[in-house]
Amino acid sequence: MQPCWKSTQDSQTSSALVRRYLGVWQVPPTPVKSSRKVGNLFIGRASVAAMLSIPDLIKKKRDGSRLSDEDIKALMGALTSGSIQDCQTGAMLMAIWQKGMDDGETEALTREMMLSGEVMSWPEEWAGLVVDKHSTGGVGDKVSLVLAPALAACGLKVPMISGRGLAHTGGTLDKLESIPGFDIHQSVRQVRAILSTVGCCIVGQTQTLVPADRVLYAMRDATSTVDSLPLITGSIISKKGAESLSALVLDVKFGRAALYKDLDGAKQLADLLVRAGNGLGMRTGAVLSRMDAPIGRCVGNSLEVMESLDTLKGRGPQDLMELVTALGGVLLLMTGLAADQSQGREKISQAVIGGAALLKFQAMMVAQGVAEETARMLCSAHTDYFAVLRKAEHVAELTSGEDGVVEDVDGLILAEVLHQLGAGRTKAGQPVNHSVGAKLLLSVGQKVEKGAPWLRLHYEDPPPSPDQISRLQSALVLRPPARPGRLPRGNLVQEVLLPF
Ligand code: URA
Repeated sequence: MQPCWKSTQDSQTSSALVRRYLGVWQVPPTPVKSSRKVGNLFIGRASVAAMLSIPDLIKKKRDGSRLSDEDIKALMGALTSGSIQDCQTGAMLMAIWQKGMDDGETEALTREMMLSGEVMSWPEEWAGLVVDKHSTGGVGDKVSLVLAPALAACGLKVPMISGRGLAHTGGTLDKLESIPGFDIHQSVRQVRAILSTVGCCIVGQTQTLVPADRVLYAMRDATSTVDSLPLITGSIISKKGAESLSALVLDVKFGRAALYKDLDGAKQLADLLVRAGNGLGMRTGAVLSRMDAPIGRCVGNSLEVMESLDTLKGRGPQDLMELVTALGGVLLLMTGLAADQSQGREKISQAVIGGAALLKFQAMMVAQGVAEETARMLCSAHTDYFAVLRKAEHVAELTSGEDGVVEDVDGLILAEVLHQLGAGRTKAGQPVNHSVGAKLLLSVGQKVEKGAPWLRLHYEDPPPSPDQISRLQSALVLRPPARPGRLPRGNLVQEVLLPF
């Protein structure tokens, strides 16, 4: 599967380089004799090859040979049946981490992981309309909260399966759980019912989907093998494959506050994810976006819900809307609901500005357990959000130490300090403090005077230490007001990879 790149200039986002990619989704997989259809895939009967033992399979990978489809199928079979020992799984993970996997192996790994559990199925009339997005994680990244209802308002079905925050990046599920009553635990049957009535839901991973990933993910953490491209690809795309999506868009971030610090590393991951997604029969595209300063002005679970609601009321920050419309535009294009990305972006923008997405969000909250009155209050035009969402015990403003023009705000520093103050978790399963967060009071390019407030900090006891305050202050990068020169460009989206 070699990419066949064709660069074209996107007509609306002048900075966005649009690369076109020849994916296998255009050619439906040929059913083979005695095959069955699971999700988007035709699965053929495995050839009866001599089966290697688990130690032989580990040796094969350790010594640099490629694993065949049958080898990978046998491995995943042993993993889900529990017949492989933990030490063997660990050794295989390390062999994969060291020797890597080619495209074919990665595709087989992704497919077999997907098939380790339930693969969702949808009513026939939704064919071509079921979509989702995945983000590699950012600071202030509340895109899902706006995008899912906007897509539903455009006629798509969005069974969005999201994650929790880990390390400095926030998680969509933690944000939603700051809304009293919001239940992220929904069975596959409940998801189907919510999609029928509302069109979108945002839920956690169910127990039945991709059990192989639960085992592998925990072992990768324990064996320092998390940062392996084929393992990351298998983990992310198998879970999306199990949703039987028609189309998937990936927000692959790069920059100071992202997993990948530079565009090249992020592009390598995006290429692999796009190929693996298309290999599973989902039209998969990717947006490569910059992640340096926080997205929007709010960081922290409750505060991000408020900013998402403001955005759904047409009062959102420009950078958040740029991401929402770019990602949504790609999905509308891939599902044929827009003729090009520009029309797709426009439709998403209309769904948000015109209020249709807000109505979907309100209905989604109610369908996922929020009391009707609470949902109505949150969605009314002039809400006192803190009448519904918990407010932190303390609110304080940090002030600028000098005159200047805002050149940058370091999202990583903000996120790390807020994480220490309780907004995030260091271990899976830990609770988070939904009310801890911060709101930026100015944006890049704005003039600021010495003593003017620039950050409103929401915190609980104990208060931030002097060292934490000084770290927060170091996140604000000013330049002298008189210094000439252009400020950094505002566009977050750098490139878009499409499957055609
Ligand atoms: N998200 C996942 O689900 N898996 C990974 O490996 C990385 C991010």
